[in-house]
Amino acid sequence: MIDYPTILDEIYLSLKSAVHRGTVASYIPELGKVNGKKFGIHLLTVSGDEYGVGDYKESFSIQSISKVLALTKALNFVGTELWKRVDVEPSGDPFNFLSLLEMERGIPRNPLINAGALVVSDILVSHFTNPKQDFLAFVRELAEDDTICYDEEVAKSEKQTGYRNAAAANLLKSFNNIYNDVDEVLDFYFYQCSISMNCKQLSRTFYNYANGGKGMSGKVFIAPSQAKRINAIMLTCGFYDEAGEFAFEVGLPGKSGVGGGIVALHPGNYCISVWSPGLNKKGNSLLGMQALEMFTTKTGISIF
Ligand code: GLN
Repeated sequence: MIDYPTILDEIYLSLKSAVHRGTVASYIPELGKVNGKKFGIHLLTVSGDEYGVGDYKESFSIQSISKVLALTKALNFVGTELWKRVDVEPSGDPFNFLSLLEMERGIPRNPLINAGALVVSDILVSHFTNPKQDFLAFVRELAEDDTICYDEEVAKSEKQTGYRNAAAANLLKSFNNIYNDVDEVLDFYFYQCSISMNCKQLSRTFYNYANGGKGMSGKVFIAPSQAKRINAIMLTCGFYDEAGEFAFEVGLPGKSGVGGGIVALHPGNYCISVWSPGLNKKGNSLLGMQALEMFTTKTGISIF
């Protein structure tokens, strides 16, 4: 029997006063206001045991972590048709790189880089009746938590400065891989990224991917075969040009966001969320990566 609480306490104590904590993202001005000293971890096992340390009850901007949730809903809507518009290859490029696998067809390399996520946003805008409200309702259902909200200030801040995303969306539109109005798709994308959660809510939201597509109260969100595929995409594409490093150091499917959150999971076993706003050069939480490396090393449980 692994003593998870003791292991999490040890990790927390050894990292909480770290001097090198990375740099808080400031290209979205609102994110730059966050206190870089924050640090929290929350673990949720598939059997429902949970344990948190540090600032695990404090909300932060989940940013790109939302791309997994958007992908899930888009797959609910269009199934495998989605893969005609987005590929599943790691990009080896930064998240905001205009990474299109085949320039002639305008197909982004995967759904977890910004270009791919914009195509996924376009699918959601096409299929939801009220895209922003309906997406939030879906996320609340996944998390089984009606208190989860968008952070309007973060969404507005990104809208004012999101030139690169606007460029990607326009490029995709020129390839006819965005069907809706570009501004509407961008607006939806910025709101999606602005969702606020704490580590505990994040672990609960991702519980279904650790549990073959079933949420904590048994509701089926996706088929086990789709959970398998989404986990594969998280493993190969969840950390941009650091996906290899994350698999090497941590060995779990996971997803990061520039708000400093990382969620990772072991199918059939557990889901773990970490938040520390300082990022490394690749845009992933510096302490978050270290904490997860220590976790899979100390517990001896990774997918490898
Ligand atoms: N909203 C951010 C952007 O589009 C998300 C980036 C991230 O979390 N990696 O730039």
